[in-house]
Amino acid sequence: ASGYQLLRDPHYNKGLAFTEKERDAHFLRGLLPPGVVSQEIQVKKMMHNMRQYQVPLQRYMAMMDLQERNERLFYKLLIDNVEELLPVVYTPTVGEACQKYGSIFRQPQGLFISLKEKGRILEVLKNWPEKKIQVIVVTDGERILGLGDLGCQGMGIPVGKLSLYSALGGIRPSACLPVTIDVGTNNEKLLEDEFYIGLRRRRATGQEYSELLHEFMSAVKQNYGEKVLIQFEDFANHNAFDLLAKYGTSHLVFNDDIEGTASVVLAGLIAALKLVGGALADHRFLFLGAGEAGTGIAELIALEISKQTGAPLEETRKKIWLVDSKGLIVRSRIESLQHFKRPWAHEHEPINNLADAVKSIKPTVLIGSSGAGRTFTKEIVESMSSFNEKPIILALSNPTSQSECTAEEAYKWSEGRCIFASGSPFAPVEYNGKVYPSGQANNAYIFPGFGLGLIISGAIRVHDEMLLVASEALAEQVSHENLEKGLIYPPFSNIRKISAQIAARVAEKAFQLGLATRLPQPENLVRYAESCMYSPNYRTYR
Ligand code: NAP
Ligand code: MN
Repeated sequence: ASGYQLLRDPHYNKGLAFTEKERDAHFLRGLLPPGVVSQEIQVKKMMHNMRQYQVPLQRYMAMMDLQERNERLFYKLLIDNVEELLPVVYTPTVGEACQKYGSIFRQPQGLFISLKEKGRILEVLKNWPEKKIQVIVVTDGERILGLGDLGCQGMGIPVGKLSLYSALGGIRPSACLPVTIDVGTNNEKLLEDEFYIGLRRRRATGQEYSELLHEFMSAVKQNYGEKVLIQFEDFANHNAFDLLAKYGTSHLVFNDDIEGTASVVLAGLIAALKLVGGALADHRFLFLGAGEAGTGIAELIALEISKQTGAPLEETRKKIWLVDSKGLIVRSRIESLQHFKRPWAHEHEPINNLADAVKSIKPTVLIGSSGAGRTFTKEIVESMSSFNEKPIILALSNPTSQSECTAEEAYKWSEGRCIFASGSPFAPVEYNGKVYPSGQANNAYIFPGFGLGLIISGAIRVHDEMLLVASEALAEQVSHENLEKGLIYPPFSNIRKISAQIAARVAEKAFQLGLATRLPQPENLVRYAESCMYSPNYRTYR
């Protein structure tokens, strides 16, 4: 390749870090200013520039530009500054980016598969330049974070998630494929927006929808084989559960909203038990929001209790209650409930609001998975704190605007007694002279390591047992120091080590279950996982 091409290709470009020798050998003389700098200096400079931007979306765009210009520097930056940059490439800023995707769009960063491509999806996959794909994150844009239907502009989510697969989980960037399936949008504002980049039609449903999805799933397996991981992301729940069930027996599929969230939250709860005492089975759980996140978490908690106590799932589910937009899910509502809510319809009189449900159920754990902001009111947090010494309160909804309450509210209203974590990050809170750092119950703790574990073992199917071991592995990474500060998750700064631990446990489980194809089984799975991880350090070109 000519020197000019090297500079223009984000996979190879090193900018001023090309050495004198490389500049000679690859026709770069004169194409660069004479200064030579290290990757460390480049990182320092980029971070300095980044911090000049006051508007989060400008930081997001600067990161995307960097990814398009110099991929290794992008990942180096992200890995070395993960706590600072996670909120930029992921929630909350990615939410705003999706909302404005049409006007900030510059370079396509993934595959767009729309109804126009029906009948030709295999061809479309072959247009993608990389042939060896290990992870696909796919959305249809119908439920982007807690922001609703953003249609084709949901592409920001697969792109962001996959950059975390590489940065936090060490999957090679070239093995990652972001996909957005465009079947239209019911978002009127977007349909009228002249900058909208997607199909201008209302969403296809029923057979038209499922045929396109089926063609996609078949083409993926045909083109990339059985071991490619397909992560469903931000589908609406009326499709998400069905897709997961339908393809779970024929493909390596994972739904991060249902399963990833469940695993992350269960990990946080296992860690929290060290602060509040008792076993999981001794606790009572109440959810606001009975969709993908809510029922997914609920089911994994029930499964773990069942595994620990030997009690059947039908029994362990009874410790868990959910409230949806119509109120507490109870037996008398069963006929009108969507199928994924039915296991949670316990015997109880109808209650139509969360505050009354809290008073009646008296949960020890309150979890917000509604996508509806400011729904954990003062009254609710106070009543949680009236019958619990240390109430566990998780406000999972993203982005920040949709959080059920803020960290400050949770600590203030519980007089500093609650154990709190949220989906989107909050700054530390000072209350009565004490500082409470607030933890993030963020899927990014699990899915990168989980995916790495599947890939290094050559797993061909996902199994619930893998989610449980991932939770246990994450919970074990929470140190005494973290717990003493009230944190039920470890800091993100160690995330690559944590991902390797999770990957090793998931891989081990895959081998135990006979779902692994990478034989023989490596002896030390943690070390093996680490050795497989992508490093963003520059390579030397000869
Ligand atoms: P979903 O499947 O659409 O479910 C939303 C649920 O919330 C539904 O049961 C809905 O009730 C209920 N709901 C909505 N508004 C409500 C209100 N005002 N009062 C009571 N219930 C209400 O969505 P999801 O996939 O579960 O996601 C929900 C939220 O969780 C999103 O904001 C998402 O960003 C967040 N999330 C966070 C993480 C994390 O890492 N922290 C992971 C995944 C998801 P109906 O069923 O009656 O409509
Ligand atoms: Mn999601």
